[in-house]
Amino acid sequence: QWIYVNGQFVNKNEAVISVYDHGFLYGDGVFEGIRVYSGNVFQLKEHLDRLYASAHSIRLTIPYSKEELTQIIVNTVRKNELSSAYIRVVISRGEGDLGLDPRNCSNPSVIVIAEALSIYSQDLYENGLKLVSVATRRNRPDVLSPQIKSLNYLNNILVKLESTQSGADEALMLNDQGYVTEGSADNIFIVKNGVIITPPVYLGALEGITRNVIIDVARNLNYQIEERPFTTHDVYIADEVFLTGTAAEVIPVIEVDGRPIQNGKPGEITKHLLHTFRDLVTTAGIQ
Ligand code: PLP
Repeated sequence: QWIYVNGQFVNKNEAVISVYDHGFLYGDGVFEGIRVYSGNVFQLKEHLDRLYASAHSIRLTIPYSKEELTQIIVNTVRKNELSSAYIRVVISRGEGDLGLDPRNCSNPSVIVIAEALSIYSQDLYENGLKLVSVATRRNRPDVLSPQIKSLNYLNNILVKLESTQSGADEALMLNDQGYVTEGSADNIFIVKNGVIITPPVYLGALEGITRNVIIDVARNLNYQIEERPFTTHDVYIADEVFLTGTAAEVIPVIEVDGRPIQNGKPGEITKHLLHTFRDLVTTAGIQ
């Protein structure tokens, strides 16, 4: 496996960064997770736009243009001879000293990893996930915007630890007012009386690229779709619940906090959206 590290392709075993890299010392950096379907990098423009926006927000200058980074990503996929893959792009502040000051980091580190997929098992797509709501809250947008996809994922990790501890497959994260925001690394949707509902991102959710694709897919299928706040109660009494994300795609949820969602089986609209999404990504010509 070839990894792109600061201008070179190196073997996985030789891919290294400095222990003084502020990405490692302080989580100072940004990242993206991207999918390759049938040799096409899915939604690459959207992922690059989000990556550059995250970097801009933390005053990190990515040392390549979007066109150059596109070429690096495509070359990484080609060099590893992958037609289906998960790509991780990491841009960190780079090597500095032990102090916090980013001015002492002269060159950002740029890392691109492309590997074969390890996604949720087929069983979970067919039978659905169990979620549990967790005590850890999504960070407040006025403190640190959830739109910055930074290397600081500690609250998401705490959320994951909590849900694993409870024996659930995934977590349901709330904001400090108790409104549902998202999963540990996935957006959430509920379906009630035929209407598909997802929380507005201002409540404290990442504006997921899969989320936006699913909103488009649902509109094209003539479903009614709304972005509005909801609580765990609304989730418990929903007709259907599902998560979306680059790695997860669309995955049904069948139980939340010990309450089965309806009959405890994946819903029909969820299945319709998943199949339509799968058809879309396997169709040629999507970048
Ligand atoms: N929410 C968080 C916190 C995430 O890290 C991710 C993954 O990127 C998502 C949601 C889903 O977003 P996307 O569909 O762009 O992968």
